[in-house]
Amino acid sequence: MRILLAGGAGYIGSHVALVLLEAGHEVLVVDDYSNSSRTAIGRVENLTERSVEVIDCDLADLTASRAALHGQQFDAVIHLAGLKAVGESVAKPAHYYRTNLTSTLNLLELMADHGVNKLVFSSSATVYAPAAEGVQNLDEDQPAGTGITNPYGWTKAMNEQIIRDIQHSRPELEAVLLRYFNPVGAHPSGRIGEDPSGIPNNLMPFVAQVAIGRRDRLAVFGDQYPTHDGTGVRDYIHVMDLAEGHLAALDHLRAGVATYNLGTGEGQSVFDVVQAFSDASGREIPYEIVAPRPGDVAKAVADPSKANRELNWRAKRTFAEACRDSWAWQSQNPNGYSAG
Ligand code: UDP
Repeated sequence: MRILLAGGAGYIGSHVALVLLEAGHEVLVVDDYSNSSRTAIGRVENLTERSVEVIDCDLADLTASRAALHGQQFDAVIHLAGLKAVGESVAKPAHYYRTNLTSTLNLLELMADHGVNKLVFSSSATVYAPAAEGVQNLDEDQPAGTGITNPYGWTKAMNEQIIRDIQHSRPELEAVLLRYFNPVGAHPSGRIGEDPSGIPNNLMPFVAQVAIGRRDRLAVFGDQYPTHDGTGVRDYIHVMDLAEGHLAALDHLRAGVATYNLGTGEGQSVFDVVQAFSDASGREIPYEIVAPRPGDVAKAVADPSKANRELNWRAKRTFAEACRDSWAWQSQNPNGYSAG
């Protein structure tokens, strides 16, 4: 298939592009480079020895997007375009709602224009209600779309609802919502990886930057949670496993909307992450305990059995491999994609 990959130059998008190309698909990337790099796509082209067509355009602008996609043919859309910084979404809610919701509405409109019915959407475990927190492993039937603590998470829940409602009005639409847990790691070559702009919000890139010496120490957000060592527990999934989940979803599209968790089913605490990254890098990771981050839950771990069963997919890589690959990327690219 020829696949329109919206947000294909970003961290997850570049790994999805690589996996799609290796599976023999053609990839058309649409990206506005607001938090991504053209270099990533160049490296994907080098790694796969395939070429990728790239359209530089902001999907929140329907007129510009229509013009940019005029005459283009594609069979399916994988939609990973959007703003994703939780803290920034609290400071700039209107910007987040406008960008993330409008892009999805516009993409659905462009799909109708082009007679395309296949959609894979990048959703997030953050859509689960915080009240589900006591649950051992979150399955897709847990309450979602209530009590979300930040506008970023709301945009994911609202986009899910937009897709369900539009599918209802266009029954031929085949959509899959993929609820990502915590993507980490990089392609094992270390050529592509996560390159956050500014100070990383997420644990793994922050830890990687401490290991390489770009930051002094990690601030551990609380050590009094009801978890095995008091620090927050998350389900960290290797980005290559996550990318392969998109390929599996494409192969299993059928009329309707299906929802799948993409996670490993296993939890790591902040201290587990520090230890594993220190082992992988051979560097010390200095840290200090600070107050919990508002809105954080103690634990969020997937029950990935529905995706295992129905998509015939499972996360295969270990957390130690994720740390090794993340370190390969960080140590070969201490300043990310910028040369400086
Ligand atoms: N965390 C931390 N220090 C940081 C960033 C994150 O202690 O600088 C903790 C956070 O409280 C959570 C875990 O690491 O328990 C994962 O946080 P991240 O922001 O990566 O993912 P999310 O909270 O969105 O699942």
